[in-house]
Amino acid sequence: MIGARPVRAHRGTQLHTLGWPQEAALRMLQNNLDPEVAEHPDDLVVYGGTGKAARDWASFDAIVRTLETLRGDETMLVQSGKPVGVLQTHEWAPRVLIANSNLVGDWANWDEFRRLEQLGLTMYGQMTAGSWIYIGTQGILQGTYETFSAVAAKRFSGSLAGTITLTGGLGGMGGAQPLAVTMNDGVAICVDVDPSRIARRLEHRYLDVEARSLEEALQLAYDARDNRKSLSIGLLGNAADVFPRMLAQGAEIDIVTDQTSAHDPLAYLPLEYSFDEWEAARTKDPVGFADAARHSMAKQVEAMVGFQKAGAEVFDYGNNIRTEALAAGFADAFAFPGFVPAYIRPLFSEGKGPFRWAALSGDPADIAATDRAILELFPENASLAKWIRMAGERVHFQGLPARICWLGYGERDRAGLRFNELVASGEISAPIVIGRDHLDSGSVASPYRETEAMKDGSDAIADWPLLNALVNASSGATWVSIHHGGGVGIGRSIHAGQVTVADGTPLAAEKLARVLSNDPGMGVIRHVDAGYDEAIEVAERLHVRVPMRET
Ligand code: NAD
Repeated sequence: MIGARPVRAHRGTQLHTLGWPQEAALRMLQNNLDPEVAEHPDDLVVYGGTGKAARDWASFDAIVRTLETLRGDETMLVQSGKPVGVLQTHEWAPRVLIANSNLVGDWANWDEFRRLEQLGLTMYGQMTAGSWIYIGTQGILQGTYETFSAVAAKRFSGSLAGTITLTGGLGGMGGAQPLAVTMNDGVAICVDVDPSRIARRLEHRYLDVEARSLEEALQLAYDARDNRKSLSIGLLGNAADVFPRMLAQGAEIDIVTDQTSAHDPLAYLPLEYSFDEWEAARTKDPVGFADAARHSMAKQVEAMVGFQKAGAEVFDYGNNIRTEALAAGFADAFAFPGFVPAYIRPLFSEGKGPFRWAALSGDPADIAATDRAILELFPENASLAKWIRMAGERVHFQGLPARICWLGYGERDRAGLRFNELVASGEISAPIVIGRDHLDSGSVASPYRETEAMKDGSDAIADWPLLNALVNASSGATWVSIHHGGGVGIGRSIHAGQVTVADGTPLAAEKLARVLSNDPGMGVIRHVDAGYDEAIEVAERLHVRVPMRET
């Protein structure tokens, strides 16, 4: 047995296992750890803090070994990144069943989790790290694009042209904001305290220009807006200073949000310190630093509420800044909503969510063929077509070529079946794996994010993701996972994932038809149960059976 080493997914059409379903699991595990994909591959960490693909290198080797010999009527069990058993099942059963980071309620906190992790008994699986369907930053860009597109649909007649968005944070995830706004034809001013983050986003063409002052940023923004041109502008500064100053000046801002790392007060720079003092200050006095950070967040959130009162569209982008501002004494911190109840829930109600797929061949031409298929299948969806075209031009693949787009109930199965036909006919050179994020319409309970402010108060009910996993396992998915703590941390979420292989066979077609209907169907059912009109409409129109609505 050897330890850390570079891992890269097999490519091409030659199998290293006894069938494409097993091969798909193997290649996607390997792909999650590809140095182009994973943040810290030597530690098996894929993304999202310490989200891992396998518990340790011995477990990784054992998973690979097992997949290489696993038969088409057997199922491997993975318990928090370690393979613990192989059982005789049948060809419709998943080839892999995964449970990651789950803890009994009273024990579900970070301290206990860390203690058990130290003992080697568990690992943090995040969402798509431990379930082997992470595809790099494309997922973040598309999710951010979709959110701003939903803002445009709700408030600005379907386009951000002629609007200015103000936001904070140009980090790993926040750095997608400028491009997501310009892809929606808007203007963005993005504030960050770290000059290297601005430089990196400029270098990667996620950001168009940098302004040298607040005044210059506003002038550039007004000029672009008046000409209905898209433009993203980086501004070096502290959001707790820039936001209130812009408000006081009466800056004409239409949309305000934030993606500084407010979820962790040590990762938010308070007004008292300069950027160069940050590291030393938080190390010397973490408690005092966190307190100062919360008070600065309160100032930023107070300005955000001010913009809201002045008529701007304001939302929390999932970084918990409202909670921290409230803790610092700003009582009105929850005046503006989180992004899920504000924009995403209507999509979730239709079973829509982040559908994604990867080409096991490793050939970008296979993804180009799927892009064409999506454009042909859904010609009426202009926003989808725009995303697919722009992604084709601007998204640099990391690891196996992959694509993501939001599709709903009645759409995902059509896409999956079409991909399967393209594999069968040889127009695509090797099978495609089809999965999704756990942040999806019927697969997550997460009261601070995906299920915040449910209409019936069912935010913390976690039966739904468990039913979702059972449904996918019963419908023919290739691997199914149940996780705890992804996105918002231990104790705060329970969620499930599925991945299904389109290998061109008639059996795969049958499985895809069921999984890709039933999985988003769970989202429709969950939202019908909570009383959402959009979900009821979709259920009636597309004949999703909900017993309590039948007579
Ligand atoms: P990151 O740590 O990579 O980047 C945070 C950025 O904020 C850094 O560039 C930092 O310099 C900057 N920053 C810190 N304090 C600042 C201040 N006072 N003023 C201006 N800039 C400041 O984090 P990330 O991966 O980009 O994520 C950002 C936040 O957004 C996290 O809290 C994350 O959980 C949240 N998020 C949520 C969702 C979601 O809910 N779907 C999606 C994306 C990100």
